[in-house]
Amino acid sequence: MSRADRRSRLELILERDGPTCVWCGRTVAEGLVAATTEHVIPRVKGGPSWIENEVAACRRCNARRGHRTLTSWADECESNGWQPDRPRLVAVLEALHERIEVEGGQRRARPYLQSQLRRLRYSLDENRSPISGSDSCRYPDR
Ligand SMILES: [Zn+2]
Repeated sequence: MSRADRRSRLELILERDGPTCVWCGRTVAEGLVAATTEHVIPRVKGGPSWIENEVAACRRCNARRGHRTLTSWADECESNGWQPDRPRLVAVLEALHERIEVEGGQRRARPYLQSQLRRLRYSLDENRSPISGSDSCRYPDR
């Protein structure tokens, strides 16, 4: 991808989501100095290179996340006193899910997407009740 493509892609993402880092909430639009795009589902986990799989992050957060999952990195951001935008992550994952439903494929990304979406929704549920035991605690017999 050329530099120009990457730049306009970032602009589209900032327009879609607002000019802030998804992980720490800092404004990144000013001159686009510190802004970068980041894959929600990492490429190594089978995440597609679609705009639906990208969010804006500041360089610091992008560099520090490494290979952590969305949810564990979001938890870590919170323990650093930052404000990860969980509703945005849910919205992006839902849009990604829809595109996968339409286009098919992406087999490796699907389970990752579903488990991360479930955890994010759970973390947003203020009246969270214990996950019912029926399927969460059952493991296949060997
Ligand atoms: Zn950040």
